[in-house]
Amino acid sequence: MFDFYPEVNLSRESLLEKIKGQMSEKRFKHILGVEKAAIALAEKYGVNVHKASLAALLHDYAKETENQVFLGLIDKYNLDADLKNWSNNIWHGRVGIYKIQEDLGLEDPEILHAIEVHTVGSPEMSDLAKVLYVADYIEEGRDFPGVIEARAIADRSLNMAVAFETMRLIAYLAELRVKIYPQSIETYNAFIKYLK
Ligand code: GDP
Ligand code: FE
Ligand code: FE
Repeated sequence: MFDFYPEVNLSRESLLEKIKGQMSEKRFKHILGVEKAAIALAEKYGVNVHKASLAALLHDYAKETENQVFLGLIDKYNLDADLKNWSNNIWHGRVGIYKIQEDLGLEDPEILHAIEVHTVGSPEMSDLAKVLYVADYIEEGRDFPGVIEARAIADRSLNMAVAFETMRLIAYLAELRVKIYPQSIETYNAFIKYLK
């Protein structure tokens, strides 16, 4: 475990306090579960473990941020106007990184990229981003049909795990009859070859 995070100039204790102040107890537990899974995946796949830890701890920092705040950030940073047609599910990563930069001064581009794409992925994900994307799905607190298979696949191949998760996510969203964010489909198209 890391005692200090120079990227945000905070001790682990102070960082956890700040994160806790943004969310429910349940979500905070999820974040610690994602950190544990991300560290294990990072060790396994040769990714920077410290960055994996910090990316995991901050990935859902903005999950309970109000809609008005996101709409303000989309304007302030001139982000893609189409974002306004979506909701917190899409905003908390893609737009959440601007809140994280403002609140915590985080500038590390690799960590920001991983958090930015943690919900919808990207055809060009770094290994750190893949680690976070998969860890978010398989952390020990998750319990849904397919999670055991997802964990087994994550143990074999990081790319295959991204592909499996994206395939299941898209099928799940279609069953729910909700809109699928185009970047989620792009991720599916880029990674599905690893599941063949
Ligand atoms: P969480 O923040 O730990 O709950 O996990 P994620 O950030 O991965 O996902 C947040 C929510 O967004 C989940 O309920 C997903 O099902 C949902 N989600 C992910 N991709 C899409 C998408 O393309 N479209 C829609 N409508 N929802 C999505
Ligand atoms: Fe999330
Ligand atoms: Fe999460």
